[in-house]
Amino acid sequence: MRYWKEWKQSILHLFFPSLCALCKQALLVQEKILCMACEHKLPYTYYHALPNNETTLRLAGRFPFQHASSLFYFTQESDVQQLMHALKYKHHPEIGTYFGSLLGQQLSKEKSFKAIDGIVAIPLHYKKEQQRGYNQSNLIAAACAEAMGLPFYNKAIVRKRFTQTQTLKTRSERVDNMEAAFFINNTELLIGKQLLIIDDVLTTGATVEACALQILKIPGTQVSIATIGIVI
Ligand SMILES: [Zn+2]
Repeated sequence: MRYWKEWKQSILHLFFPSLCALCKQALLVQEKILCMACEHKLPYTYYHALPNNETTLRLAGRFPFQHASSLFYFTQESDVQQLMHALKYKHHPEIGTYFGSLLGQQLSKEKSFKAIDGIVAIPLHYKKEQQRGYNQSNLIAAACAEAMGLPFYNKAIVRKRFTQTQTLKTRSERVDNMEAAFFINNTELLIGKQLLIIDDVLTTGATVEACALQILKIPGTQVSIATIGIVI
């Protein structure tokens, strides 16, 4: 049965090879999303092994957290930006799963992320999720959780409304406004847990901060942060 399945896959692959999402060359059977050459060129930060990395420094002093890391540098016109764009706007959910498993494989090797009990993702407003068909951070988080052998607490946090334009407000007003947008749907489930919050790309960190501040109101919780990209 297994051979039959493999044989069928090889034949399918022969006639309809998947293409690398970046260079568009035909992928080998064992390659997923990217060819080996493109995967090797991805700009890994290796922040997971650096305690004073840029992700940590950007969030430091804004809310208490254990560890923070980002998988790739994110710059305009880069390969990571192109992949993230395809994930968010061109209906390629498989890229989210791919990113999430790369992140999970990396974090599962790192001692500082061993104490984590479970994973949560920054939620999208449901209207936005409906438009897109999925929340990209959920896909990343689910694959990351699987690679780390941890539970993913999907839907434990929800986003209540679209965040309004944030101009003309002070930083603390902006954080309050954002914070009110997140609602903990299942407090019981998260009590006393050390959670890893997943987001796609870290820019100013305002969204992560707002979501983390809500989570930290739950008794006994601690948070760590991981994102796929960091804007530098
Ligand atoms: Zn390629």
